[in-house]
Amino acid sequence: MIQLYQPLSYMGLVYREIRQAMIDIEMMFDILTQNPEVEDRPGAKPLVVRQGRLRFENVFFHYDPRRPILNGVTFEAPAGKTLAIVGQSGAGKSTISRLIFRFYEPASGRITIDGQDIALVTQASLRAAIGIVPQDTVLFNDTIAYNIRYGRFEASEAEMKEAARLAQIDRFIELAPGGYEAQVGERGLKLSGGEKQRVAIARTLLKGPPILILDEATSALDSFTEREIQDALDRVAKGRTTLIIAHRLSTVVNADEIIVLDKGMIVERGSHAELLARNGVYAAMWSRQHDLRRAEETLRRAAIEE
Ligand code: ATP
Repeated sequence: MIQLYQPLSYMGLVYREIRQAMIDIEMMFDILTQNPEVEDRPGAKPLVVRQGRLRFENVFFHYDPRRPILNGVTFEAPAGKTLAIVGQSGAGKSTISRLIFRFYEPASGRITIDGQDIALVTQASLRAAIGIVPQDTVLFNDTIAYNIRYGRFEASEAEMKEAARLAQIDRFIELAPGGYEAQVGERGLKLSGGEKQRVAIARTLLKGPPILILDEATSALDSFTEREIQDALDRVAKGRTTLIIAHRLSTVVNADEIIVLDKGMIVERGSHAELLARNGVYAAMWSRQHDLRRAEETLRRAAIEE
């Protein structure tokens, strides 16, 4: 019996690992369809995450050889710390998250997690170790509970509800007709961008990965929603190695380190205060976004008063 049980239990483990990887793959389906060729190397071993230290070592990358995207990028996200990547649109920020997921491989250089080259580990184990809150969350035409459970199907009811509470989506769900069993989608409950993102945060909390990538939504959120999401993200990032791909600078103020990417190169790095004091690219981006926000607020207030 034991002889039969062991392979079955191993198959169960493999199945769970593959299914978890599928979850992330589906969530980033648009990216995956761009490049399905990356495969496990022969003899690839599972990634063993100890602390969750993530390193880029002199990484070069291009989609098209005529157009380099990353030109020798080196950085480290120490275990449990938050590293933010900022830069103009098209600077290569999201490309970095695609490389970590190994949807593409660097032309040269290495990406390591706890010293293991991610090109040499199995993709299933790599993707099981990483959680992503993507820019645009895809929700399934199913119940809200199912959509959260997608992070880890084995989770108990109590764990699922706790994840919803930490992601600050619990009150919204409890007020919805049907609560956690409410159907989401076309003929059911419609969620705003911010609510969908909080469901994605709950999913990720349930998955509990040691490494987290937050690909911030480019779409503008009102400042109240933005603050709520920020609080939820801070909770999910706590104690995990977190990489924030930031489009708005307001979300990176508290990062342990910020790197500024320009034309595929790191041109500045430091804390928010250090970068402001430097009065360079980051400081210029900060003051531009500040002016823009003030103008938006003025317009919004004028519209309310009308
Ligand atoms: P944004 O802030 O606008 O999201 P980003 O800094 O995240 O931008 P990336 O998405 O990393 O930028 O893209 C970097 C560059 O690579 C862009 O010029 C983009 O057009 C190009 N690019 C992205 N994906 C592909 C692809 N699949 N094939 C070819 N070029 C691509």
